[in-house]
Amino acid sequence: MTTTLFTNVHIATGMPGSTAAETTPLQDILVEDGRFKKIGQRLVSKLATQGMDISSIETIDLEGKLACPPFCDTHLHLDYVFTARKPGAVNESGTLFEGIQRWSETKSDLTVDEVKERARIGIAKEMRHGVQFIRSHADVTDPNLTSLKALLELKEELKDTVTLQIVSFPQEGMYSYEGPHGESGADLVEEGLKMGADCVGGIPHFEQCREFGERSMHTVVELASKYNKLIDVHCDETDDPNSRYLELLSALAYRAGIGSKTTASHTCSLGSADNAYFFHLTKLLKAAHINFACAPTENLYLQGRQDTFPKRRGITRVKELTEAGVNVSLGQDSMQDPWYPVGNGNMMLILDYVLHLAQMMSFEEIDDALKFLTVNGATTLGMRDSYGLEAGKPANFIVLDASSVFDAVYERCDVLRSVREGRTLFTRNTSITTDLDLLTL
Ligand SMILES: [Zn+2]
Repeated sequence: MTTTLFTNVHIATGMPGSTAAETTPLQDILVEDGRFKKIGQRLVSKLATQGMDISSIETIDLEGKLACPPFCDTHLHLDYVFTARKPGAVNESGTLFEGIQRWSETKSDLTVDEVKERARIGIAKEMRHGVQFIRSHADVTDPNLTSLKALLELKEELKDTVTLQIVSFPQEGMYSYEGPHGESGADLVEEGLKMGADCVGGIPHFEQCREFGERSMHTVVELASKYNKLIDVHCDETDDPNSRYLELLSALAYRAGIGSKTTASHTCSLGSADNAYFFHLTKLLKAAHINFACAPTENLYLQGRQDTFPKRRGITRVKELTEAGVNVSLGQDSMQDPWYPVGNGNMMLILDYVLHLAQMMSFEEIDDALKFLTVNGATTLGMRDSYGLEAGKPANFIVLDASSVFDAVYERCDVLRSVREGRTLFTRNTSITTDLDLLTL
């Protein structure tokens, strides 16, 4: 039996009202065989009183820092990472649609090994920023399904250190793409599900016409029901206020009884739609329990490209959806790919952007902000049952270089430690204990 005791730590569970660490006493965490055994105040002395030989247990002092569940990145394209500078892949206009074109023209030389090599670096970058749960899309509009094969292999190889969910994603459309043997994007999405992808993907706003987009939403929900999979659709990633596939996706998923297994990614058009429409739509979103994945940095960069001024912000209505009780999580989306020239997996930066863009900076909103990277992410991924700092659950958590959620957000702090089933994946040391120490160096 492996037992570890983590001591002197503030805990932010990510649940509303639990985040004001300055009023939360220091706690200790006992981990046994990879699971949380006990979490509480003065646990060390209580265990000693109960006769446990503390001196024989590995004890790690967390020095009054803040622990929370590991970060979730609910929208990433690991097959695309680090392709931005590839010959022919440079996106001159900075638009979503040129990004798709550049990728399409340069993806024929992919190999499983090469995709895995790049994706490994992308995963490592995310992990060093505290991410342990990633949903990655894999482009299946490729008759060889190279990206999907690569990411499915990585999912298995890395499962002890990171949880990967893979979306069978038709980047070039379900009904606008036709492969060399006449296969449609929908055929390839289905093939991907049979191979083991976790989620059905779609991209209705990219299809050649509205009818194809609508048909693709029907297909997405039918495939998810047929194969018992989750859904994650790139949905209305455009400033066009009339792009309204979200309502169709939500209605179909609701009627199929799989709304809570469904994620609408991006939904930038909601940032342009009028309030009367949003008011009406919100009722359906709540009833269906649709999840949202917002990629603030990516869409801030890609959207508004046809605007002069005023120029739209490009992101979905994070604040309004949250206030309506709809689950919203966040994604890095891209790391140096044809859609976005930077991106390093730092989810604290992604959070920082969304709080600014969505104007969610009341003290209550800041104190509650880690939920976007933690429980909201786990809800999107459908992993809430096994996620969180609670006795009996897998001992996964991270330690932030802050003692409260406010300070973590305010400082855009580093992650000092990441623990996976009781095993420390990495630590980062800080030699400075307070800012004022700098003045005495
Ligand atoms: Zn995406």
